[in-house]
Amino acid sequence: MLDKVLIANRGEIALRILRACKELQIKTVAVHSKIDANLKHVKLADEAICIGPNPSAQSYLNVPAIISAMEITNSNAVHPGYGFLAESADFAERAENSGFIFVGPTADVIRIMGDKVAAINAMKKAGVPTVPGSDGPLGDDPIVLQQTAARIGYPVIIKAAAGGGGRGMRVAENSQALMNAIAITRAEAGAAFGDDTLYMEKFLQNPRHVEVQVLADGQGNAIHLGDRDCSLQRRHQKVIEEAPAPNIPEALREQVYASCVNACIQIGYRGAGTFEFLYEDDQFYFIEMNTRIQVEHPVSEMITGIDLVKQQLLIASGRPLSIQQKDIVFRGHALECRINAEDPETFLPQPGKILAYHAPGGNGVRVDSHIYNGYCVPPHYDSLIGKIITYGSDRASSMSRMANALDEMLIDGIKTNIALHASLVRDPAFKRGGVNIHYLEKKLGL
Ligand code: ADP
Repeated sequence: MLDKVLIANRGEIALRILRACKELQIKTVAVHSKIDANLKHVKLADEAICIGPNPSAQSYLNVPAIISAMEITNSNAVHPGYGFLAESADFAERAENSGFIFVGPTADVIRIMGDKVAAINAMKKAGVPTVPGSDGPLGDDPIVLQQTAARIGYPVIIKAAAGGGGRGMRVAENSQALMNAIAITRAEAGAAFGDDTLYMEKFLQNPRHVEVQVLADGQGNAIHLGDRDCSLQRRHQKVIEEAPAPNIPEALREQVYASCVNACIQIGYRGAGTFEFLYEDDQFYFIEMNTRIQVEHPVSEMITGIDLVKQQLLIASGRPLSIQQKDIVFRGHALECRINAEDPETFLPQPGKILAYHAPGGNGVRVDSHIYNGYCVPPHYDSLIGKIITYGSDRASSMSRMANALDEMLIDGIKTNIALHASLVRDPAFKRGGVNIHYLEKKLGL
């Protein structure tokens, strides 16, 4: 078993990882920036080390400082959480080369999945359905480019192979707009990612975002934990997630699950991972794989009873997967609302001191959050301050529990998006299930 895990993250996910380590009797090391000395997990960890000043680049992204902290504390593994270094192949490689276990896939697999062209190729090989698109990277010949777009059919989307976080893509509605869209995206990708490799895909007009959770041990065993619908998004940021995705034919789900499990085995995947798809007209289209634990992982935990973070730690310890597909039973429905410290009108982050905090509770209500009375939300990091997850025997009961939980939650001193969530869980179209990725922005008049 892992002996001591360094948690290379902050906030709710750092606390989540700490709790899983404690359950497995693994010692923990918290690393933090200067302003984060009062984070809950820092207080609860066996050891804590300040690794630098507040800006992430100098602390949570500071690889030499994190590796030194692992050496000083005699940690034998590092859990990167999500964000920060979670999908850095270089960090995974540095950690492993220094003799530490990286809780996640191998650096090679992270690297392939971080290059969207390589990822799509790997998926095609494994039989995962992809978006109709260019066969590999785009060249320079305008005639070939026009032919490629015409074959795919307009509108098309030009995407940077190294893109991420919703950046580095542009839609071309017709052949007149194509060359310009390619030139702009190429320049942007070169400047933003240091890599101007592009590819082209059919632009799906009204898709939903549906993703599949997997666990694999890198030793030939892989399973899926069903799907999640994360279509309620604003600026490509997920706002509410649920499991399972509503209104999808069972046979289609089974097909896509089988292809994901097959892909895990083919690429030698290790750890927890997510295959992200766009779903339109009864078809799944792979867009990318996230090689880490995701913010919305709890909804899958609620409907399967499997602790994904504990599984990550068990897999990292080198054990073969202890659960088989037949052990996974899907029961009920779960929702997650991401609580952000943000202005409800402008959506701008709202750092500041929490003067009063009352968490919701009751049957089927889970709160994953690091905040407490008197906690100061710093301005330097993501505005996520917690997640409410509700479970019910069916979708309607998880929804009504969420509505009650949101009404019960009180955060005083800073502005939050609780009221937005409270209106969304009462929204008739969302309640019916299956809204597409544009629904929330349209509703907000954006
Ligand atoms: P990133 O890594 O930047 O998140 P993704 O490939 O996951 O990039 O795409 C981000 C978002 O962009 C998707 O969730 C979707 O909203 C939109 N998008 C990407 N590809 C397409 C496509 N082919 N058609 C329609 N929308 C797309």
